[in-house]
Parts: sequence; structure tokens; C-alpha cells
Amino acid sequence: MTEYCISAIGHISSAYKQKFAIPRQPRLVPQAKAKLIFEKEFNREEFVRGLDDFSHIWLIFRFHGTADKGYSPMVRPPRLGGNERKGVFATRATFRPNAIGMSAVQLDAIEYKNGQLSLLLSGIDLLDGTPILDIKPYLPYSDALPQASAGFADCEPQTDMHVEFEPSVLNFIAQQIEYPELTQFITNVLKQDPRPAYKKQKNAQQSYGMTLYDFNIRWQVVGDTNLVTQIEKS
Ligand code: SAH
Repeated sequence: MTEYCISAIGHISSAYKQKFAIPRQPRLVPQAKAKLIFEKEFNREEFVRGLDDFSHIWLIFRFHGTADKGYSPMVRPPRLGGNERKGVFATRATFRPNAIGMSAVQLDAIEYKNGQLSLLLSGIDLLDGTPILDIKPYLPYSDALPQASAGFADCEPQTDMHVEFEPSVLNFIAQQIEYPELTQFITNVLKQDPRPAYKKQKNAQQSYGMTLYDFNIRWQVVGDTNLVTQIEKS
């Protein structure tokens, strides 16, 4: 097999510090902001000249958090409740040959500050530190295919969990003035019910945790509600 050597042109700095609870596609949580920070070789405005005319871009990236685990020919998409298997090439699973991912995300701004070129993005589904292999402008006339059919992934994923906060958590968040969208961010992440599919059938009360930015957040599943019980700075 021919081998190719590719290297990252930049990496992502994002609020998502672990895989768990990251939305399964971009756009689902608009408050998910990130910075794409260019590597030294590409750290020049020329590389992105004209890109600010585009509202959205494609990111081609490496699933660096799972790449060392290899791939499976068949995977269980969460959409199918984790019970049914599909060929890896029929899914967006992370465990794939070459571990390459793609996301269309919103480009909010191009920043050149203190000698560092960055793209400011929102609606991302990427782990902090994700290596970016390429960037391309999103072309609606060609990339948007509203008539396309998508089999088991044909409709928007369900985001119907209720999300509630303990008053102490809301008090804490109100003091984090640098993060004005934190309540909405947490709400949208938890609305999607990040639990693994096989746990959703169980009715037992369960408690989960995630880190967003440097906040450790815990919640409890009570029926169809995710109740945020705890938040602290790590
Ligand atoms: N939009 C992409 C990603 C789909 S999989 C594509 O279609 O190719 C989405 C999942 O990838 C998220 O739920 C998150 O848990 C995982 N993920 C995001 N960044 C990752 C990374 N750098 N390494 C491993 N997994 C990652």
C-alpha cells in the first residue's frame, strides 16, 4: 500500500477537553467556539487571504484522540441505539482507517494577534488539540444538497432531554463573567443526551461528568431530565 506523509497545518483550541459529551456533528451546539491556531510554516496572512468572504469552512482533521486504537470494519452508530452494525465507511465513526474527520463549521473571524494567525470558529465538534490537516471554503452551490437521502441518519438527531440546574450551579455560573454563554452552552450539550446508547434504556439514576473549558461539571439523569448538580474550576 502506498504511504503518504502528511503533517498538521494547525491545531484546535476548544472547550471540549474530553471526547465524552462532544456533539456528534458540528453545528448542533452553536456556543461551541474554538480557535484554529496555525503552525509556524503557515502562520502568515497570505495563506488565508480571501477566506473571510466565506461564512463556513470545511476542516479536515485527524481523530488524534482515538487514532492509536485503529479501526473496525463495522461499527455501531449511536443513532441506531448501539445495537446495529454498519460498515465503517457507511458511518462518521472515529475508528476508521487513516482516522480522518471532516466538519463544516462557521468561520466567525480571522485573527492576527501578537504574530499569531488564528481562525475563530463556532459550532464545532472537535476535541481540544485536534490536528488540522487542511481547510477548504464551504461552497453552498456544490456542497449543500438538501435533497440528498441519508438512510439511518436522515433526520436531525434528537435533542429533547430537559436540562435543569441546581441553584448553587447557576450562582456559580453567574460569577463567570468571561463566559456569558456558559449556561446555554451546557444546556445545548446536555440536551443531546451524551450518554452511550446502551445506557439510555436503563432507568436507574446515573451521574456523569465532563470538563468544558476548565470547569468540571457533573449532572444526574433523572428520567428525561439532565440535572446539573455541580460545577467547579479544575
Ligand atoms: N464531523 C466529524 C466528526 C464526527 S464523529 C466527521 O464527520 O468526520 C464526532 C465525534 O468525534 C465527537 O462526538 C467527538 O467525541 C469525536 N472527536 C472529536 N474530535 C476528536 C479527536 N480529535 N479525536 C478523537 N475523537 C474526536
